[in-house]
Formats: sequence, structure tokens, C-alpha cells
Amino acid sequence: MAGSEFQLIQSYFSDPEQVERSDLILGIGDDCAIVSPKEQTHLAFSIDTLNSGVHFPHNTSAQAIAYKALAANLSDLAAMGAEPAWFTLSLTLPGDDKWDDEFREQWLKQFSQSLFSLAGEHNIQLIGGDTTRGSLSVTIQVCGYLEQGKSLKRSGAQVDDIIAVTGELGAASVGLDIVLGKKSAQYKSLSDDAKQQAVHALNYPQARIKEGLYLKEVAHSALDLSDGLLSDLGHILKASDVGAELQLEQLPLASALSCLDKQQAWEKAMTGGDDYELCFTLSEKAWLKTKQQFPHFVAIGKITAEKDLRLLEADGQEYKINAKGYDHFG
Ligand code: ADP
Ligand code: MG
Repeated sequence: MAGSEFQLIQSYFSDPEQVERSDLILGIGDDCAIVSPKEQTHLAFSIDTLNSGVHFPHNTSAQAIAYKALAANLSDLAAMGAEPAWFTLSLTLPGDDKWDDEFREQWLKQFSQSLFSLAGEHNIQLIGGDTTRGSLSVTIQVCGYLEQGKSLKRSGAQVDDIIAVTGELGAASVGLDIVLGKKSAQYKSLSDDAKQQAVHALNYPQARIKEGLYLKEVAHSALDLSDGLLSDLGHILKASDVGAELQLEQLPLASALSCLDKQQAWEKAMTGGDDYELCFTLSEKAWLKTKQQFPHFVAIGKITAEKDLRLLEADGQEYKINAKGYDHFG
């Protein structure tokens, strides 16, 4: 990294306001960061890259990119029942005409403010990174604490478990259609407010950290919904060697789906990505307790011994999905 660029990074990423964790020995500035993990704990690691034009549209704001990059990583910690601790950041910034010094400074200012604001909410500290030139890309690696023997894996689902989710589905996927200008006829009846909410859901996903910390005590399996319910639930079923029945009428449909007919709404909720809610399975008894604690969690189905994934309408009839591009589980 060039000297002036290093100065720039220093001024934006060595934020004196940032969280200062007592389990950090050495942060940004040396060849490595050094941490001192609490005794009798396990550490969970996860890394995610967001590439411009692939994982977010080119015109996405610096604030949204920072937020989403960290939130998606935090969501992976949440899905394991881990408590966030530290993260590193690898930034690739373009060197073309648009990215002159002034634009880069403005961009980094907005990016770092958004990043540190979310990091502060979750008490996670930036402890190092790398900065290079190339097509705009953001990689974040997070590390968090796990209570020994209490991680929320994909492989623990048991026959007769309730399948539930931590919140509404489908808004982010509508938001993506809207920013890409896709299927605009379908969304004509949505108010501007509702459209904005959907785009907000896409750009500012909420990592369900406290929910994950609770669920690690009671759930048999969990993951976060990044690719869409059907494909992600498929991972739990495969890892646990079980099947499932989903009750379509119970799906918590985001309000942005109100402009679609019922079947379109179901398919959007089940195949749309970027929701970042947790999907988990647990015994019926544990579910009743959990629902008291988190009334907005929603049960959507059951784990079965037959190893397929069946979608059921209210009358018990099986629904055959026709969403394009969806590779049916199994
Ligand atoms: P090296 O040549 O050892 O890779 P760098 O010049 O890349 O060192 O980085 C110097 C210091 O700045 C290191 O401590 C590194 O962790 C930190 N750093 C570089 N880029 C970033 C970034 N984008 N965010 C946070 N820390 C960074
Ligand atoms: Mg480096």
C-alpha cells in the first residue's frame, strides 16, 4: 500500500471512538493483531466477500456496503450462537477516474462511519485488514466466542422438531428487484414508502445475535437465511439426514409481498435471498417456551423422517413450486 493511502486508511480505520475490547492485546498498525481469548471458550470464525456488481449493485452507497458486509458476517456468528468479538477488513478500491482522492475520502468516511456504528452496537472491534487497488470489493472476517459444546450446527435437526424463523421473509428480495428495476409492473401498487422499506431491508439486514445466543440453549439446529429459505433449509435437512413439511399459510410474509398474489408471495418468501433471519429447529416443548420469550418468531413446519421437503397448503394438499431457477431439494 502506498504511503498516502496508508495515511488515509489510518485516518478512517483507526477510529479512536471505536469499541475498545479488553481481550485485544494489539490492534491495527503492526504485522498482526494479537488477541487474548477468555479461558474455557471456543472461537468461531467466518469470512464473506461482497463484490460490486455481484453481491451488491454498482450504485450501492458506501454506508450500505459497509453495513451489509459486517451484518452478513455477524449473521453467521448469530447462526452458530456465537458472541461477536473481533473482525478484520480487506478493502479493494478502484483507481479509475471516478475514484479520485476526493471521491475516495468521501467514500471512506461514509463507509467507516457506517461500519463503526454497527460494530459499536455489537461490541465487535476492527483489529486489522488489508487495502489494495482493483474492482470494488469488501471482505470481512469475523471472530466470536462460543460456549464450549453449545454451538448451533446445521446437523442437529431431529424428527418431529418444529421448524421456525426469527422474522419476516421476502422483503430484501423485493428490494433487489426494485433497485435493479426488475418486474416493475408487479410492484406498481406498492407505495413509495413500502418500496423504500424493501430496499432498506436489502441494504441494512439485521444480524440476529441475541436471538442466536438464546437459541444455542434450546435449538437442535440453525442457520441464517442468505440464499433463500428453501435452499438454506435444504442444508439443514441434508446435514441432519431428515426431511421437512412446510405449512405455506404460516410463512411470515413481509409486507412488501402484499402486492403479489398468494402463490407468487409464497415463492418469493421461500426463494428470495438476503433475509438474514435465522431458521432453526427445536422440540415442541422448547418451541412453546421460545415463543413466549420471542412472540414474533414463527413456526413454519416440522422435521420429518421421510427425506424430502414437502410444501403444504392449508387443506393439506401438496404445493408444487414453479419458481424459475429453483433447484428442488433432493
Ligand atoms: P502489511 O504490509 O504488513 O500487510 P499493511 O500496510 O497492509 O501491512 O497494513 C498495515 C496495518 O494496517 C496492519 O496492521 C493492517 O492490519 C492495517 N490495515 C490495513 N488495511 C486495513 C483496513 N482496510 N482496515 C483495517 N486495518 C487495515
Ligand atoms: Mg497488507
